[in-house]
Amino acid sequence: MRLRNKVALITGGNSGIGLATAKVFIDEGAKVVITGRNPETLAAAEKALGAGVLALKVDVTDTTATEKALAEATEKVGKFDIVFANAGIGGATPLGDTSPEQFNRIIGTNLTAVFFTVQSALPHLNDGASVILNGSVHAVLGAPAWTAYAATKAAVRAMTRNMASELAPRGIRVNQVTPGGTKTPIWSPMAQTEDAMSALEARLGGMSPLGRMSEADEIAKAALYLASDDSTNVTGIEITVDGGMTSAPSGAKIFRTA
Ligand code: NDP
Repeated sequence: MRLRNKVALITGGNSGIGLATAKVFIDEGAKVVITGRNPETLAAAEKALGAGVLALKVDVTDTTATEKALAEATEKVGKFDIVFANAGIGGATPLGDTSPEQFNRIIGTNLTAVFFTVQSALPHLNDGASVILNGSVHAVLGAPAWTAYAATKAAVRAMTRNMASELAPRGIRVNQVTPGGTKTPIWSPMAQTEDAMSALEARLGGMSPLGRMSEADEIAKAALYLASDDSTNVTGIEITVDGGMTSAPSGAKIFRTA
């Protein structure tokens, strides 16, 4: 049990990577507080995760509600040892066809709310805690039409480093998981049928040497390392889980001759 007696907060714990991470953390002995907006998936997650979870309906872009919810949560489960600021949204913002509202929604959720999640959790964090931010390979991919999303994830990479310095005096470590394409509901609006999802998996998988998308559980296990006492002298880093897409792109299927 690598997280015995630890208390974790996971934003966006009712779906995808956050839900997979909640399961891994609970299996490793942690008590986990999950947040999300959708009452149905929150209830389903609470049922699936069992006794070790407290599910809270909170919009991460509402800082006042977040501060209140975290204060109430720690009264029930104790101070946090782990914060996984994971909640995020995707979405294209093509030049020439993007409103300020669309752009600011992505910035507000993936960037501003990540900062305020950490700030809101800070009074309730034990010294020596582990903070994990969720980045993305989009920070370095240069993909067309995903400017706002990519900008938020590049900003997350910067914030991981800034916060690692700022919180070090309390022994609080700040690291990041950086997923490549991972099979979660975030892709549903872009691939609404099984065929469309298979085509997407083939396209995104084909961009990496290992040739497939990640499973949510594979990101969760990277988060587990950063959350646990296995990484007590590790701060300011990112663990990239992308099948080699960003570190060895020339090995991708599309470049192979044999
Ligand atoms: P999902 O869509 O499955 O999960 C996103 C989660 O974020 C949901 O639980 C959702 O809850 C929550 N969320 C979104 N907006 C808010 C909000 N305003 N307030 C509270 N909760 C919110 O996607 P993933 O699991 O894939 O995404 C998790 C993170 O991983 C994101 O930061 C994403 O950018 C990142 N990532 C994902 C990749 C992928 O390929 N899947 C690749 C790289 C990074 P609710 O539905 O209740 O709003």
